[in-house]
Amino acid sequence: MIEIKKTPVEKVTFDGFNYLIKRDDLSDSRFSGNKARKLYYFLNLDFKNFKKIISHGSPQSNAMYSISHLAKIKGVGFEYFVDHIASYLEQNPCGNYKYAKENGMKITVGDFPKSIKDDELFIPEGGHFAQAEVGVKILADEIRDMDVDIFLPSGTGTTALYLQKHLKQKVYTCACVGDANYLKKQFFQLEKDEALHPTILSLSKKYHFGKIYCEFFEIWVKLKDETGIEFELLYDPLGWMNIQKHQVHFQKEILYIHQGGLIGNESMLLRYERLNK
Ligand SMILES: *Cc1c(COP(=O)(O)O)cnc(C)c1O
Repeated sequence: MIEIKKTPVEKVTFDGFNYLIKRDDLSDSRFSGNKARKLYYFLNLDFKNFKKIISHGSPQSNAMYSISHLAKIKGVGFEYFVDHIASYLEQNPCGNYKYAKENGMKITVGDFPKSIKDDELFIPEGGHFAQAEVGVKILADEIRDMDVDIFLPSGTGTTALYLQKHLKQKVYTCACVGDANYLKKQFFQLEKDEALHPTILSLSKKYHFGKIYCEFFEIWVKLKDETGIEFELLYDPLGWMNIQKHQVHFQKEILYIHQGGLIGNESMLLRYERLNK
């Protein structure tokens, strides 16, 4: 059995309010935060019938990096399909892309295969699949007894959904990829009972996933200065901006789930640097 160690909870103050931070970024250095939870089921699966993992998505994805580790640990191949790779990234590999390639990932530009062979394992983009429930439930067990409101930003919404499904506390989230309608659809794909869905918060301005914004960088720096914790640059800034905007709605102290993804910051910080030149 491969176990994920229980992660600590830290008290911080940010912008005049107290928060608890679940340091799930510290769960496993090889896996990126919540991806360790989402891939937990596969970590403990017998791979003797599989030769290769197939997945697809963006060439900078945190999930891609984590799957490359899974493939390495299990001694199988990993082929990852992307629509496009920026030539800048190909020539200057960094972040998730660089480390996933070092783990043996084969990257292919083009559509992912429509049919998967018996000895191949297909993992959907971003780890949006029912098997993720097993590992996310273990995260839920670790925070079950806390008297808090819970907040975590969503990509596919898989982590937030399974947390709410397994917890009595209120789970709040925001859509970082697509809008609230997209996120709601993602929830419905995994769970028909709407009563088990997290509550979606939003901002009036629309932010596009993967783009860089001055206000994201500013709040990221402020978080680092005031809490001493490095957050991630794609999801967490939007998460904290939503918390600031909706502060009055929370009944209890917020437990913020830090979902890792710090390796992705390497390439994001380079983009913010280029912006400042
Ligand atoms: C993948 C990821 C998310 C989104 O997780 P979902 O389960 O897809 O909603 C959020 N934050 C970080 C840092 C991530 O790597």
